[in-house]
Amino acid sequence: MATQIRPNIHCSDAEWQARLELAACYRIFDLLGWSESVYNHISLRVPDQEGAFLINPFGLLYSEVTASNLVKIDIDGNKLDDNPHPVNLAGFTQHGYFHRHLDWAHAICHVHTTATMAVCSLEEGLMPINFYACNFMGRLAYHDFEGITVRAEEGERLLANLADKNILMLRNHGPVVMAKNLQAMFVQQWALQRACEIQMATLSMGRPPIMISQDVINVHQRDLNLANPPGGGPGVGDFNAWVRRIDQIDRSWRD
Ligand SMILES: [Zn+2]
Repeated sequence: MATQIRPNIHCSDAEWQARLELAACYRIFDLLGWSESVYNHISLRVPDQEGAFLINPFGLLYSEVTASNLVKIDIDGNKLDDNPHPVNLAGFTQHGYFHRHLDWAHAICHVHTTATMAVCSLEEGLMPINFYACNFMGRLAYHDFEGITVRAEEGERLLANLADKNILMLRNHGPVVMAKNLQAMFVQQWALQRACEIQMATLSMGRPPIMISQDVINVHQRDLNLANPPGGGPGVGDFNAWVRRIDQIDRSWRD
C-alpha cells in the first residue's frame, strides 16, 4: 500500500499494517453491500502480539471504520488498548472460538447478506448450478441454527461441524469465512457471495436449473487450482484493486 501519514497511535509497524488492511476490508465490504448496519464482524489477528485481535468498534458503520479506531482485544473480547469504543462481545463469541482453536484462522468474516443468508436458509444449501458454486462444492461445512450464536457451549459443535473446511454455512443465518490472511478470506467471500446471488436469481425464474455433474466439478476445481491469481497469492490482486477503488471514494480509512 502507498505510504501515508500515520496518526498518533502507539503500535508496532506490523500492527499498523494489519490495521490498514482491516480498515480497508471494512470499507470494501461496505462498498460491495455486505455490511449489516453496525453488526457483524471481520476480525484479524495482530501479527506480532500473541492472543491479540483487531475488530470493528461497536456502534460505527463500516463506512466509519478507520485504521486507528479498530479495537484491539484479547481472545475473550477484553480490550487491550484505551480505545473509547465498545466491542460487540456477543458477536465476537464465535470468532473468538475459531481464532482460539484454529491456528491458521488469522482472518475471519461473518456476513448477513441477503443472498448468502437466503442460500443458508435452503435445505439444499449451495447448489451446483453455476460457475462460482463449483468453486465450493464439497468444500463447505454446515451448522444447524441454534439461535443467536452467543453461547460458548455451541462452540464445540461449530468446530465439529466445520471439521477440515474453512467456510461454515450457519443454516438460516449466514456464512463464516476463515483464512490465513484477509486477502484470501476476501476473495472467497466474494466468490461465495456471487455464487449465492446467482443461485437466488436462478431459482427465482421458476424453471428447473441445470445441475452440474460431479465430473465437471472435479475438472473445474482441478483447473481452478492451476490458475495463477494476480498479485502473487489468493485474493491479493483482487484486494489491492478494491483498495484503489475505495481510495477513489474517500481515504479516511487510512486515518
Ligand atoms: Zn450472524
